[in-house]
Amino acid sequence: MDLIGLKYIIVGAGLWGSVLAERIATILGQKVVVIDKRDHIGGNSFSKINDETGIEFHCYGTHIFHTKIEKVWDYFNQFTDFTNYQHKVLTQYKNCIYSMPINLATINQYYGLNLHPFEVENFITRENSTSQVKNPANLEEKAISLIGAPLYEAFIKGYTQKQWEIDPKLLPADIITRLPVRYNYNANYFNDPYQGLPRNGYGNFFKKILSHPNISVHLNVDYFQIRNLIPADCKVIYTGPIDRLLDFKYGPLDWRSVRFEKEVVDVVDYQGTSVLNFADLEIPFTRVHEFKHLHLERNYLETNIYPKTLLFKEYSKKYSPHYDPDPYYPINDKANNEKHQLYLKEITNTLPAFLIGGRIGQYCYWDMDRAVENALDTFENIFKKKV
Ligand SMILES: Cc1cc2nc3c(=O)[nH]c(=O)nc-3n(C[C@H](O)[C@H](O)[C@H](O)COP(=O)(O)OP(=O)(O)OC[C@H]3O[C@@H](n4cnc5c(N)ncnc54)[C@H](O)[C@@H]3O)c2cc1C
Repeated sequence: MDLIGLKYIIVGAGLWGSVLAERIATILGQKVVVIDKRDHIGGNSFSKINDETGIEFHCYGTHIFHTKIEKVWDYFNQFTDFTNYQHKVLTQYKNCIYSMPINLATINQYYGLNLHPFEVENFITRENSTSQVKNPANLEEKAISLIGAPLYEAFIKGYTQKQWEIDPKLLPADIITRLPVRYNYNANYFNDPYQGLPRNGYGNFFKKILSHPNISVHLNVDYFQIRNLIPADCKVIYTGPIDRLLDFKYGPLDWRSVRFEKEVVDVVDYQGTSVLNFADLEIPFTRVHEFKHLHLERNYLETNIYPKTLLFKEYSKKYSPHYDPDPYYPINDKANNEKHQLYLKEITNTLPAFLIGGRIGQYCYWDMDRAVENALDTFENIFKKKV
């Protein structure tokens, strides 16, 4: 890797870093080096073909592209065509399968009723009033005050406890402001006008976005192993965890992580849908991904061509910076947000060549569209202005 005279290095070939690299290469016409410690581009949004089954899978769990931001949709469409995949999620509770988020089908099936859309609001209000929760003091009380105890117990309690590994009574009420309940049979998981999957997969999308001749990508390269080789006047655009940059001076930031258990099953179709949640506390995983169902346009259900199926069982876990390779979900409580601000302030004051970006560096949960929007805005506001 030639770093002499280099003006821009991007740490992290995830979505945020890739978009910024593409902008610097295309609009500024500058050379940019992108490094990633993993053996592939694309960060958590990456996908590739599984050798044993021939099925494309999302290496870090199902990623559905969805957005209402026009400029993000237009940007993505420069690099990929989209399928018309529409995401629907089902949840298993006590051996029955329900629609999620909670809609009229979920309510009618759970209570054994046949309510009409215009009757649901009153029904939920009656359910809430029996709960007697007036000033909710924790997540459990808040959820019960919103949807009533029975729906909470069935669909929220066990799943939340598995996700956070903590009794929902001990979680703050302000984690949720609302729990979506639909008064009709709409089973679409997302409401955004644009939705789909890159027709040739995220892997190819990332190859294309990073294909500009001004961009050179180096994989299996950890920033901390090469930091001393980077020229002093090179801008370092860093999308990794920022506590490590300052040797955890203010203590590590807290994150949740996930672990995937991969399984190839000798049946054509295992669960009949791409993502099945598991609401029961006794079942240790939170969801099962069956990747076939993401690209049915590829005839993945043809028995003769794809006789097997690939599953990921997802387990939620605490993240440890010393044992786990990557953080996933920030725990944006007051203490962690303040700690993140301390790191950010010190980096801004003492490391002027640094720009912190991406969902990990910014310590926030962004869906892919928000990551792209932020990368495009960062480019416009910081880099383009200087030209
Ligand atoms: C389980 C899960 C499911 C999701 N599902 C969806 C979904 O359905 N739809 C949606 O829109 N969004 C989804 N997202 C969000 C999506 O993954 C993010 O928006 C996107 O990955 C953000 O890109 P990024 O570049 O900021 O971060 P990342 O993709 O995490 O990329 C950061 C990169 O930096 C690299 N890196 C870190 N430290 C170093 C270092 N020291 N040296 C070199 N490289 C380093 C990492 O290896 C990584 O490749 C999901 C996220 C998770 C965790």
